[in-house]
Amino acid sequence: MLHGQKNPNEEDSSSFITPAYGGRYTREPIPKYLIPEEGLPPKVAYNLIRDELILDGNSRLNLATFVTTWMEDEARQLMSETFDKNMIDKDEYPQTAEIELRCTNMLAQLWNSPSEENSVGCSTIGSSEAAMLGGMALKWNWRKRREAQGKPADKPNMVMGINVQVCWEKFCRYWEIEPRFVPMEGDRFCLTAEEAVKLVDENTIGVVVIMGSTFDGRYENVKEVNDALVKLNAETGWDVPIHVDAASGGFVAPFLQPDLEWDFRLPLVKSINTSGHKFGLVYPGVGWVLWRSREELPEELIFHCNYLGGDLPNFALNFSRPGNQVVAQYFNFLRLGHEGYREIHQTSQDVALYLSSGIAELGPFDLISDGSDIPVFAFTTNEKANFSVFDISSKVRERGWLVPAYTFPKNREDLAVLRCVCKEGFTRDMADMLLGDLQHAIDYFAQRPDHEPQTGGSSFHH
Ligand SMILES: *Cc1c(COP(=O)(O)O)cnc(C)c1O
Repeated sequence: MLHGQKNPNEEDSSSFITPAYGGRYTREPIPKYLIPEEGLPPKVAYNLIRDELILDGNSRLNLATFVTTWMEDEARQLMSETFDKNMIDKDEYPQTAEIELRCTNMLAQLWNSPSEENSVGCSTIGSSEAAMLGGMALKWNWRKRREAQGKPADKPNMVMGINVQVCWEKFCRYWEIEPRFVPMEGDRFCLTAEEAVKLVDENTIGVVVIMGSTFDGRYENVKEVNDALVKLNAETGWDVPIHVDAASGGFVAPFLQPDLEWDFRLPLVKSINTSGHKFGLVYPGVGWVLWRSREELPEELIFHCNYLGGDLPNFALNFSRPGNQVVAQYFNFLRLGHEGYREIHQTSQDVALYLSSGIAELGPFDLISDGSDIPVFAFTTNEKANFSVFDISSKVRERGWLVPAYTFPKNREDLAVLRCVCKEGFTRDMADMLLGDLQHAIDYFAQRPDHEPQTGGSSFHH
């Protein structure tokens, strides 16, 4: 959100915080939108801000977010001990840089990289930055291929489902690439190979395939897209590659669906991004992007700067960034191992399947997905309901639950759903409480036969 400028008004009490601890520590009202003339003792500032933040939603009841809301005490301690590490200062903090390298190697192995050498990839602030880097490499490689053939390279396009996360729309707009979206149709809420291939041409820099759609948690079929493109490339002489947006699935599929081929096992998968702060179980923000091999990452995109000492290759959109999230990612790898990740995600999936089947049994809801890919599912209302998904979202909010309601994109704008992301920390007990509160909501509307279902509202949470 961009914040407009506030004009603080001396008379207007909404421009001041009147401290609850005023009697004890300070009597002066503190301006909200201006830097105060004098500072505060640390304890007063701490209490004041902590109290304000109580008004935020309770992150443990937040079923909207994909992002980690709980880490172990040791992880928190390690993170607070390493707040001062700047990820970019690789020469000053070589051990933090070494830890990043260990993490990318671990991910390369997790995603079946064929590369014999060190992995090719880096940490980022999240999947959005990782997607930008992956997309840029696709664009540069495409342009090189076109120039080598003496063909124009001024009309790049990218093919993806309309269900992509907003970062891909941003990528296309910021880097001036025509986005070609495959719309939804009937019960098809994802990209399919058949539809993707129809939109691909010689100017397609790549096809983005999603492992864990933001809208309903489903995996798109990377293997089918790969096979269709192998065939198309052979017929046409093109070289259209795949980038997999595995923001969620990159940390789920290797543990819960190890036999599913979606990663570097498929020859056209050239790069993959994931969010360490989603099912990588780290607090925000850390993401990762890996390339299949050195050749897929154009040298021109890498900057070598020497003013931190040493010659350090760098591919990133920003410069300074906390190093402690990378440290926390490494903590999780060591602490959990394959087994730990598998057990945690299996538990979340069991809860998701339990909750989705419980919701299906309530009567007025139909499932759009059930949480069997990533532990995320969406559901909608059926003809037995005299309320909308928006009514339900507001009703359960009264009990503290954050369950987002939103409409689907083109061509299913008629479909509105609720979505639950089941993460570590969301227990079966809590699922039972939510089922109870959903039943209360149904009863509440049943007693109001004249209720006009609330429509629209754009509470879509990516
Ligand atoms: C969350 C998400 C993103 C954006 O990830 P951030 O880490 O929040 O930047 C991109 N794609 C998909 C599929 C996502 O679920």
